Amino acid sequence: MIPNCIPNISGREREYLLEALDGNHLATGPFIERFEQYICGYTGAAHAVAVSSGSAALHLALLAAGVGADDEVLVPALTFAATANAVRYCGAWPLFTDCDPLFWGMDAAQLANFLEDECERRDGVLVNRATGRRIAAMVPVHLYGHPADMDPLIEISRKYGIALVEDGAEALGATYKGRPVGSLHETCILSFNGNKVITAGGGGMVLTADETIARRCRYLANQAKADSLDFVHETIGFNYRMPNLNAALALAQAESLERFVAAKRAVAQGYETRLDGMPGCRMRRSSNEAESAHWMAVLELDAPEAEQLIEALVAKGVGARPTWRPLNRQRAFADAASLPTPVSEALYRSTVCLPCSSGISESDLDRVADAVRAVIGP
Ligand SMILES: *Cc1c(COP(=O)(O)O)cnc(C)c1O
Repeated sequence: MIPNCIPNISGREREYLLEALDGNHLATGPFIERFEQYICGYTGAAHAVAVSSGSAALHLALLAAGVGADDEVLVPALTFAATANAVRYCGAWPLFTDCDPLFWGMDAAQLANFLEDECERRDGVLVNRATGRRIAAMVPVHLYGHPADMDPLIEISRKYGIALVEDGAEALGATYKGRPVGSLHETCILSFNGNKVITAGGGGMVLTADETIARRCRYLANQAKADSLDFVHETIGFNYRMPNLNAALALAQAESLERFVAAKRAVAQGYETRLDGMPGCRMRRSSNEAESAHWMAVLELDAPEAEQLIEALVAKGVGARPTWRPLNRQRAFADAASLPTPVSEALYRSTVCLPCSSGISESDLDRVADAVRAVIGP
């Protein structure tokens, strides 16, 4: 089986891990701050807080943005469950939105109409008339490595006074209008799960321009311990720290980030060349205003036949995967409200993630392209 997306260990991973072990620095240690500083340098973010997962980073970022129980948070339906789960961890409710067909990000036009027509201010608080809940935040997702169209979303967040937290879990290495994901706006989270652009084995990060938010996230991630010596706790905290061992691995990965992104771009282009001129499908194109990190190599079909194609490819030993099944029709979120999501539905039915490991060989690209051609070709 050609795997969908596996890690690429080809830098100083062993060296750094041994350094951590030899120094007896497993949980705490110098790699954490080195990794944070490295990602700040790469993304241009002012502050970084390394944590145990992207999900933890989202949870902390939402709490720091002021999201609380029974609030509502705007989340695209087309994303991984982690985005919406973090909203529920805060006791708040996701309110699902559609995405736009070019960027696959949160649809700003739909959002603006919703906020204008279906919400109202009560005592200075923006409330969804249908649910009576406060609209506290929005979480645009940079899906599959391609940034959401941020400018209109930032404008909406300013106009309506809604916090904006970016889910950049899939998009480290991407740029929007020449600026790197991680410093596009106030707060952005990253994931270093095993299949992400770089991995810590497991891990995540909150990147922010705001020192207060950074301090709050670090505090909450450390069991909300309020004194450096004594065990003083004024609020409920979490054990969300990234261990030094994981940071050692992650720093070595981060040093290879540009090489990985270039390799992933070459994978997408490799499929594009191989499938060029084939009727019925094409590789997903980037917007002119963004450079994708190409986390996933996404094939778009003319027909809503993703499920059949994936089944046939898997039978041929090709690790194809569906795109995210829209969250607004999953049982876990049955009690959450949703705007209409026709674009998300259509994309889910007509797009497929092809194998895209940064270390994939040319002959495996040939095998995948041949398999696609054999299934949907004339
Ligand atoms: C991977 C991912 C996350 C969560 O990251 P974990 O590190 O696995 O907790 C969140 N959002 C999106 C869009 C992701 O793809």
